[in-house]
Amino acid sequence: MNLDQLRSKVSETDTCYQCDHPFRPGDTRYVVSMTIVADFDGVLTEPDEDIEGGIDRLLEQLSHADPDQVERDVFEQINVMLCTACKERLASEIREKRYRLSLPVGGHSHYYH
Ligand SMILES: [Zn+2]
Repeated sequence: MNLDQLRSKVSETDTCYQCDHPFRPGDTRYVVSMTIVADFDGVLTEPDEDIEGGIDRLLEQLSHADPDQVERDVFEQINVMLCTACKERLASEIREKRYRLSLPVGGHSHYYH
């Protein structure tokens, strides 16, 4: 995805995602694009039950699952717009490994300081 495509996804944003600073025409702003992909370490754990029972249980769970949530469990692309100060803080915290993810009940995550 190129910069124009990323920009179009957040072009309707008129404030900084992090601090709500309003953007004015000509202000410097940054697109932060996050790709979240499920990883696999190559290890398959053995189910407590027989394999056929495990497959049946999995298919039963999938038949009731929200397709959008199933997709997000594997891959999700999130794009946000940040002001200069928030971009600097985020990049600095990531470079210095001081960032943490907050994972409140409900599964949504965000950066905190
Ligand atoms: Zn900001």
